[in-house]
Amino acid sequence: MNDPIPFDFARINEPLAPLTLYGVGGPARVALFPRTLDEARAAYAWLAEQPGRKLILGGGSNVLISDAGYDGAVLVTTELARITDLGDDRFAVESGVPLNRLVRDVMLPHNYDGVGGLTGIPGSVGGAIYMNAGTVNGSTCQLLESVVVARPDGVADVPMTPDLYGYRSQTFCPPGSLILEGRFRFTPADTDQRAIYDHYIRRRIEKQPQGRCCGSVFRNPEGDHAGRLIEACGLKGARLGGAVISPMHANFIMNEGDAAFADILGLIERCKTEVRARFGIELREEVVIIRDDHPDST
Ligand SMILES: Cc1cc2nc3c(=O)[nH]c(=O)nc-3n(C[C@H](O)[C@H](O)[C@H](O)COP(=O)(O)OP(=O)(O)OC[C@H]3O[C@@H](n4cnc5c(N)ncnc54)[C@H](O)[C@@H]3O)c2cc1C
Repeated sequence: MNDPIPFDFARINEPLAPLTLYGVGGPARVALFPRTLDEARAAYAWLAEQPGRKLILGGGSNVLISDAGYDGAVLVTTELARITDLGDDRFAVESGVPLNRLVRDVMLPHNYDGVGGLTGIPGSVGGAIYMNAGTVNGSTCQLLESVVVARPDGVADVPMTPDLYGYRSQTFCPPGSLILEGRFRFTPADTDQRAIYDHYIRRRIEKQPQGRCCGSVFRNPEGDHAGRLIEACGLKGARLGGAVISPMHANFIMNEGDAAFADILGLIERCKTEVRARFGIELREEVVIIRDDHPDST
């Protein structure tokens, strides 16, 4: 940062571990916590003028951050927490709203379609749009009418079309851009969404390990499951320091309490190496890894 920081929502040397579900990560040189969309726009525009590394952080449920911290500026969206009812089943949702709040406070009371795709996914609406988070039952971007994105060249309201997103990916918000708000258009369902919600919450409790993690570490390769491949390599239960490949689900790497960045990363590398050697398949991470030398910037 060259200029003095002109915001009362900036914090210096902010520890990042508590802002992530993994509970891993050193301090950020500067962290900005805008409370309104105007503040977020101003913070983003100011950051764009600054040299050095920049990172957007939502609920921290899909990131693994280096213990060395982040020698740059992090814009954290969690204070952007407003939901506005626009009428006709349309809602403007700020990016820091927890995804599960959108499900419980908006979708379930109105019995809107699409609950099965979003149930039990932690993190923010902005992160869910960025990752196009979802399940076999559907994904976040399918429910959007448009999305408001701040990019280095200005703020755009992008109408959503199916060609703009795919499996855990999208093209309307390149890395370093900031999703400010999603505009959702829901459809009333003719099936009971509460029953679907309860079913998938129960399934997650039965089938997924509970604790400090990022959910699925790897994307599923075409026509297969990363967890099946890792399990077939005999890696369930493999440990490194405070990290373990879950004995319950091989695509989950858990922080058992005091895991270092290098412990989790070491297990990620081991999975990739052994799956490559045995199956000739290159696993690709779904988790976003923020290394000391990560080149992401706005
Ligand atoms: C127990 C568990 C279960 C999970 N199950 C699922 C699942 O079923 N399906 C699934 O898809 N995912 C799942 N996940 C992964 C994760 O919850 C999702 O990817 C989630 O949508 C990430 O949102 P976040 O706000 O936590 O993003 P973060 O972890 O904060 O960030 C993830 C990425 O999104 C970017 N980002 C975040 N917010 C913004 C923004 N406003 N603008 C621009 N970029 C942004 C970040 O820069 C980063 O690159 C699971 C995770 C856990 C821990």
